[in-house]
Amino acid sequence: MNNSPITTSIFDLFKVGPGPSSSHTIGPMKAAFDFLKRLEQLPESTIQTAGSIQVYLYGSLSATGRGHGTDRALIAGLLGWQPESTDPAALLALLKDPTVTYPVQVGERAFHLGVETIHFERKKYDSPYANTVVFKLMDGENGLYEEEYYSIGGGFILRKGEEPADQSAISVPYPYQTMKELKAQLKIHNLTLEELMLANETALTGRSVKQISSRIDLILDFMHKAVRRGLRHTGTLPGSIKLRRKAPLLFQQARGLVQSSDSFLIFLNSYCLAASEENAAGGIVVTAPTSGASGVIPGLTYLAKHHFHYDKATLRAGMWAAAAIGFLVKHNASISGAEMGCMGEIGTASAMGAAFLTYCAGKPIEAVEAAAEIGIEHHLGMTCDPIGGYVQIPCIERNAMGAVKAYNAFLLATAGTPANQKISLDAVIKVMKATGRDMSTKYKETSEAGLALSATEC
Ligand code: SF4
Repeated sequence: MNNSPITTSIFDLFKVGPGPSSSHTIGPMKAAFDFLKRLEQLPESTIQTAGSIQVYLYGSLSATGRGHGTDRALIAGLLGWQPESTDPAALLALLKDPTVTYPVQVGERAFHLGVETIHFERKKYDSPYANTVVFKLMDGENGLYEEEYYSIGGGFILRKGEEPADQSAISVPYPYQTMKELKAQLKIHNLTLEELMLANETALTGRSVKQISSRIDLILDFMHKAVRRGLRHTGTLPGSIKLRRKAPLLFQQARGLVQSSDSFLIFLNSYCLAASEENAAGGIVVTAPTSGASGVIPGLTYLAKHHFHYDKATLRAGMWAAAAIGFLVKHNASISGAEMGCMGEIGTASAMGAAFLTYCAGKPIEAVEAAAEIGIEHHLGMTCDPIGGYVQIPCIERNAMGAVKAYNAFLLATAGTPANQKISLDAVIKVMKATGRDMSTKYKETSEAGLALSATEC
């Protein structure tokens, strides 16, 4: 366990970027961009000696990287593109024609990158993380310079050998590592959850409360734009499955029904599918906490805005509760499908969504904790086995299911006395970590088992 306080920014958890996968698209793009910047620091004589840039993918990145568009993301990063400002259409067009190469200028040299640059390695590689990518600057067969990166979920990356930032040097006014410690801080300082999180974020980022609040509004706006686009777009998603988009159909169906429990659920389904289908199509989405799970929170926040008519301040407050849960899971287990299976992605998103709904409804921290605990508890053991490596089946419907479970977790947690909940959030996160460790790698974003093996029947 990491023994430092949580020092993740809300904007590292909720990141804007192209789909379909934070670990397989956004993370590799960031790693490639970082490698490019490091190449630019090398002596010109080294660059002049070099013949090519080669990229090697291992583990889950190799197993499902094609379906996730990892090759395109790597080329984009080496071309100097950044996730938030990437044009999704331009990204999708990369490598479409295998004869085309893309010039990357480093100093006086232009390296030509194409399909030959990326190597999906099948051999076992000794690495501490499931998603590993190695960049090499080559002179013929000889390596001149290399860097190894790990994509650890949600678009977060680590570089081999890099000293982790000295967490003890980063100080937040209200340090915590667990829900127990977070609740103690709230009680000792008589703060609301939102006040505590804002104070820590201000200390971490140096941004003012006003800047942070308007950035959260912008993140919500990006989420809701993805929902609106997905409600409009029809047709077939990219990839060999030929999966048809369903969100617009569900939306029309819900609008045609008189207000009922069915229409409420169908509206929620349509919002979650809309954002997830945009993600699968490579559109711009917000990691929440990952791209694969980028339909749950957008769907629930869209519902909260348009059906419950919550104002901006309430939505923002709910986002802090969602972030707190995401931070706790990331710190004490993992939000990566390659580490935890789908319980790390949709399970975490569902718990974050449950916390969002509960906090927006004005319930106390004990109820927020209970809702999040229920959200995770009923996703324990859920595997990640996307068909063909595409973030489509089971991912898209799973976002809707995660949101529905979040809503039910909110209802269950707010009935009766939340303090009577027998399992704490900290305990269930520990169970999640242990379950992820025991789960076979076949079920952790490798498409080697489970639903992925039914691909031939699709
Ligand atoms: S099955 Fe779940 S964890 Fe795996 S890619 Fe799909 S959404 Fe992500």
